[in-house]
Amino acid sequence: MINYDKIIFEISEPGRKSYSLPALDVDQKEVKNFIDEKYLRDEELDFPEVSENQIIRHYTNLSLKNYSVDQGFYPLGSCTMKYNPKINELTSRLDGFANIHPLQDASTVQGALRMMYELDEDLCEITGMDKMSLNQAAGAHGEYSGILTIRAYHEARGDHKRNKIIVPDSAHGTNPATAAMAGCEIKEIKSDENGLVDLDSLREAVGEDTCALMLTNPNTAGLFDKNIKEITDIVHQAGGLCYYDGANANAILGHAKPGDMGFDVIHLNLHKTFSTPHGGGGPGSGPIGVKEFLVDYLPKPLVVKDGDTYKLDTDREKSLGRVKDFQGHFSTLVRAYTYILSLGADGLREVADMAVLNANYIQKMLEDDYNRVAKGVCMHECLFAGLKDDADGEIRTLDVAKRLMDKGFHPPTVYFPLIVQEALMIEPTESEPKETLDEFIKAMKEIAQEAKENPEILKTAPHTTPVRRPDETLAARKPILKYQG
Ligand SMILES: *Cc1c(COP(=O)(O)O)cnc(C)c1O
Repeated sequence: MINYDKIIFEISEPGRKSYSLPALDVDQKEVKNFIDEKYLRDEELDFPEVSENQIIRHYTNLSLKNYSVDQGFYPLGSCTMKYNPKINELTSRLDGFANIHPLQDASTVQGALRMMYELDEDLCEITGMDKMSLNQAAGAHGEYSGILTIRAYHEARGDHKRNKIIVPDSAHGTNPATAAMAGCEIKEIKSDENGLVDLDSLREAVGEDTCALMLTNPNTAGLFDKNIKEITDIVHQAGGLCYYDGANANAILGHAKPGDMGFDVIHLNLHKTFSTPHGGGGPGSGPIGVKEFLVDYLPKPLVVKDGDTYKLDTDREKSLGRVKDFQGHFSTLVRAYTYILSLGADGLREVADMAVLNANYIQKMLEDDYNRVAKGVCMHECLFAGLKDDADGEIRTLDVAKRLMDKGFHPPTVYFPLIVQEALMIEPTESEPKETLDEFIKAMKEIAQEAKENPEILKTAPHTTPVRRPDETLAARKPILKYQG
């Protein structure tokens, strides 16, 4: 059988080409006169030489080895792998968006600036904030600039003691990492027996050194903290500010606004809630929104409107400065803007309704086979603490996840949040029909059955993928990214 698994260097033949360019009409020797010696190469680069059809087959076969949301169900909790409508790709490639230069004069890119301004307004309406900064490259980058904004505010008031960030133990890992990066100390507080913020621990933790509380809501257990207003009041009374990690806003769209809950700063993950393909790491976008009293401290530039014209506001003195070159990942902004306009207010609200309904359906249907964590309804994702029962007590969540791949599904998030043992975190998103959810539920129930009757098949899974059980730590820490031929 023909082997399409060979890598492109192995099928290379000297002299093969997949391009045809007009003959070179400049003298190479002459070009060399313009370039400093030290930048010139002595030898040819070792590029593979293949024909066009070989290169097409190479990339097509490679892409089929990957699993994507366009191929199948991708219930990766906390990552919101929703379907990305193709109209977003169309608008993001429009000439006036894709072929402009960031150094062009504002008068020649009014449409692009207007798009950013209106996206800013829409996101403020959705979150209950007063102004957004759209430059952040990802959620974690949003967190970082959000906390720097809060620090700039405390410093400007001459309140130099505030260097502690309170983070619940259920927080997303990026929250404590952000606090540390921003030069703050982390004060972790415990969750109560329902997975919510323990109010007494919070009251004890706040004080004159409180910079801010960072809260993910719905939290990493998929729960909406019912004491949310009391939580923000406690922090405010101590002089601290409240930061909302809104990376997973799918459940609250059109229903609840962090601004109304008492939060001062929020970041959104446009690549999650507002649809941009983001498997494999980007490009993303993590805009931050703030209440009016913090606008002066936001990063530069903001998009502002002056009469009928739009411009970039770069002269705010108290601003913490730039956090990203130019306007950040602009095409992701276009995608989010398109998503919001094509769904409208009612459509966004329905996104939340369906995301929550789908998660609760799965939570209910799997509760006989897996240890359900939330007692009541969950938000956009549901959490299980491993299998209820298996033959030898040795089947782990990792085995369940690996076996799901044999059944054609991307596994859910595993071993996160850390406060739940053998965690399996399932986020179906709004964009799946009931038939898909039922197929997934059937596969999960089959696995629970296999765990009792044939545990070996789980321990050796997956059986159908090109790579089976790599050493994940080694693969993450010492990846081999270059041809070792
Ligand atoms: C995904 C996520 C983040 C980080 O977002 P990135 O874009 O990956 O940097 C932060 N908080 C929560 C709750 C998330 O789910």
